Amino acid sequence: MRPIQMVDTRTQYEHIKTEVDAAIQEVLNSAAYINGKAVQDFATSLSQYLGVKHVIPCANGTDALQIAMMALDLQPGDEVITPSFTYIATTEVVALLKLTPVFVEVDPKTFCIDPEAIRKAITPKTKAIVPVHLYGHAAPMEEILAIAKEYNLYVIEDNAQAIGCDYTFSDGTKKKTGTMGTIGATSFYPSKNLGAYGDGGAIFTNDDVLAKQLKMVANHGQQKRYYHEVVGCNSRLDTIQAAILNIKLAKLDAYNAARQSVAAFYNKAFAGNKKIITPFVASYSDHVYHQYTLVLNDVNRDELVAYLATQNIPSMIYYPVPGHKQDMFKSFALPHYQLDTTDWLTERVVSLPVHTEMETEQLEYIVRHVLNFVNR
Ligand SMILES: *Cc1c(COP(=O)(O)O)cnc(C)c1O
Repeated sequence: MRPIQMVDTRTQYEHIKTEVDAAIQEVLNSAAYINGKAVQDFATSLSQYLGVKHVIPCANGTDALQIAMMALDLQPGDEVITPSFTYIATTEVVALLKLTPVFVEVDPKTFCIDPEAIRKAITPKTKAIVPVHLYGHAAPMEEILAIAKEYNLYVIEDNAQAIGCDYTFSDGTKKKTGTMGTIGATSFYPSKNLGAYGDGGAIFTNDDVLAKQLKMVANHGQQKRYYHEVVGCNSRLDTIQAAILNIKLAKLDAYNAARQSVAAFYNKAFAGNKKIITPFVASYSDHVYHQYTLVLNDVNRDELVAYLATQNIPSMIYYPVPGHKQDMFKSFALPHYQLDTTDWLTERVVSLPVHTEMETEQLEYIVRHVLNFVNR
C-alpha cells in the first residue's frame, strides 16, 4: 500500500508525465514564459468547459477574488456578506480593500451560506454577496440570485473548491458553479480539483464590460500599454502553469468522478453509524468533493485525529477558527457575532483523504481505523 496522503499530486503526475513534460518543454523552447500561447488557449478551453463568456486567468485564487471586488469598484465601508465558515482568503480580500466583511451563518448540512441569514444581514450599505461553494458542493444559488436581484447586489462566487460542479435550477437548467453570479473566482493551487504545479487562478464573467474591467485591473490598470486608467495590480498566470492546466482540464471530469467514487466508498462504509454524519448532497447540487468532510457526533475529535496519525492516516480540520473569531478582523470593530451553527461545525468537522489516486486498499484501511476508533 502506498503511504496515505490528503492529496497525492505526485502519483497523479506520474500518470500524465509524458504529456506534461512535453508541454513544459514546449514552453521552455518558446521562451514565452509570460502570456504565451498556452495562456489564451487555456482561457478559451476553460470558458467552453464552463459555458461562460469570459475567463480571465490570474496569479492565484485570492487575487481572483480581490480583482473581482476592485473591478466592481466597491468602496471602503461597503458591506460584503460572506460566510464565516470558509477559508480566510474569501474574507481577507474584503478587509484588504477596506470593505466591511459581514459574516453570516451556513446551513449545517451543506456547509454553504444560508440565504435566510443573508436576507437578515442586508443593510443600506450592502453591496455584494460572496457565496462559497465549500468542499465542492454548490451554495444555494437560485435563492442567492433572487435576493441579489431584489436588493440590487453583486454576487461574487468563490469557486476555488468546486470547479466542475453542476448546479440545477428549479426549471431544470444546469449551470457550472462560478458562472451564475456577477463574477466567479477560482484557484489552481496544486491541491485544488483543477490544480497547477504552482500558483494560479481565474476570474469568470458573462458581462463584456466587466470582463474588460477585470482584465484591466489584473494588468496594472491598463488596456493600452503604459496608459494606466485605474489602479490595478499585477496578476498573471504563468505560461508553464497554463500549459499544465490545459492537459489537466481535459481530465477534470474524470478526476472529479474519481473523487466521487472515493466519497461513495466512504459513504457506504459509514452509513448508519450514529457518530458519523457523512456529507449531504442537496437536490440542486452535484458534489465534486474537494474535501470529504464528516461531522462527528459525540466523538473526541482531537483524539480521533491523533489516533489516525498513529496509524499513518492524515486528516485535517477545515477550518479550526471561523472568520468572525480571527484576530485579523479585530481592528474592524466587528459587531458581536453569535454564529452558533458555524461554531458547532468548527468543533465537529474532520476531513479525510480524498484525491484522484486513492487505492481501495487505502480506503479500506482508513475506514477500518475510523470505525475502530468511533465504535470503541
Ligand atoms: C484555495 C482557496 C482560495 C484561495 O486560493 P489561492 O490560489 O490559494 O489564493 C480562496 N477561497 C477558497 C474557498 C479556497 O479554498
